[in-house]
Amino acid sequence: MEPENHFRLRFLVNPAYLTARLREIQSIRDLFSRFWNILRYLGFGLKDGYYALRAQAIRLAGYGHDGYYALRAPAIRLAGYGHKGYYALRAPAIRLAGYGHDGFYALYGETLRAGRAIKKAAETAVPAIRVSWTRLVRPLWFFRDARSDAALSIAVKSFRPRRRFEPVNNPPAPLAAGAEGRPRLSWNIHLSCNYDCPYCWFHGGWETYLGKAVILSPKEWGSHWARFNERHGPAHIEIAGGEPFTYPGFADILAMLAERNTLSVSTNFAWDPSEIAGRVDPAKVGFSCSFHPKFAPSADAFAEKVLRLRKAGFHATATIVAYPPYLKRLVDWNDSFFSRGIHLTVQPFRGYWRGRYYPVAYTAAARRMFAWFIDGEYLRYYPPDVIFAATSAFSTLDGKKQRTMTDYQLDLKSTLGRLCNSGRLYGRLQFNGDMQRCSQGGYVGNFLSGDFCMCDEAQPCQFSTCECSNEALYIQGGPLGPGGSLSAPVKRQ
Ligand code: SF4
Ligand code: SF4
Repeated sequence: MEPENHFRLRFLVNPAYLTARLREIQSIRDLFSRFWNILRYLGFGLKDGYYALRAQAIRLAGYGHDGYYALRAPAIRLAGYGHKGYYALRAPAIRLAGYGHDGFYALYGETLRAGRAIKKAAETAVPAIRVSWTRLVRPLWFFRDARSDAALSIAVKSFRPRRRFEPVNNPPAPLAAGAEGRPRLSWNIHLSCNYDCPYCWFHGGWETYLGKAVILSPKEWGSHWARFNERHGPAHIEIAGGEPFTYPGFADILAMLAERNTLSVSTNFAWDPSEIAGRVDPAKVGFSCSFHPKFAPSADAFAEKVLRLRKAGFHATATIVAYPPYLKRLVDWNDSFFSRGIHLTVQPFRGYWRGRYYPVAYTAAARRMFAWFIDGEYLRYYPPDVIFAATSAFSTLDGKKQRTMTDYQLDLKSTLGRLCNSGRLYGRLQFNGDMQRCSQGGYVGNFLSGDFCMCDEAQPCQFSTCECSNEALYIQGGPLGPGGSLSAPVKRQ
């Protein structure tokens, strides 16, 4: 039972209690005191409530905390098991991947090794097979040669011109204008061509030279050649390549060089003569047009094109390489040219064809045909005006050149140790600016830096054979060689 004076809030709504308490109030102060007590009681009640709630909250938080940690521990334990399991699985997986990797590279290595071994075996076996195949078929050469020789003999013996005679005279060669004593330079302006003849020196190797040529503007070449002319006087420049007309700005270079020099250009003549008409002085520039049957139009069309050059005032001749597959048709092709008054120079092929090295492999009938061309045995079938058109512009040099070609190109006469004027009267300017004695080598300096030197005397040849028909002229016994009647010393300036 609660004591009577123990205050409870609910007493405030009890009228009897209220009346009894109000009767006890003696003064205002007493009223305030009792009211203050009620407020204090309310404060204590709120305080008790706050602490009771706080205690409950703390208790609940404790339960939450306990629950969290109670749950966290097994979660950590589980994570630990998962982690352990992952690493337990990862190690064998890595091991397995390692085995796979090793296996792959072991196989890859073996494959590479096997590939290399097969390639090496093929590299050694193929030439052996080729050689033995060549040996095997050698007896068949006899039949093949016999058939080819019979065709050549018939072609030569039964030859009669079968085209209309429409000769156009050849204007004089630039060199004929008293310029035979000039120093000569062969200039391989670049090694690039719009054809790819199977007998070309560069066939199969064009990529080797790609980007190695010095490409300069006509103006830049003008200053280098001006320096050469200052030192050596006017020169005769024989420009070849590759194909010179595929060099950037070549027609301008030609026009510029012709101001102080004479020139002859060896070309496959795939270009149109209108490219140079009116720009290049015909008295200073001549053309040697190479007929390449695999790429050019027919012999008749090519010969007609050569006549266009002549009609424009240019000295123009034609050449062809006696590539073995062409031999049978040479006689007829010669008629295409000669009936128009064009002398076709037939150059021996140098290189391998069907396993045999030429010119050594030319048969007797083929050699007989060369003699037929060189000695001009076919001339008797042509009227004098045709012969005149073809030969009137021949220089003494041209006549002697034919004989030199037979000796050094067809019969491969040895040149080793013989005196030669190449490097003295003649030099070869290579596509990269190097100056050489001749096409086979003998570096004498760099044309572009001007530090090359032409020798004062003829020098012995260091090579066993002379590869180029234009250069064999400079060897002792050749028309421009030491003691040759056409050689004249270069006047140094
Ligand atoms: S045209 Fe002359 S340079 Fe061009 S591929 Fe034929 S032989 Fe070689
Ligand atoms: S003979 Fe021919 S290969 Fe020998 S140095 Fe003279 S040009 Fe060159």
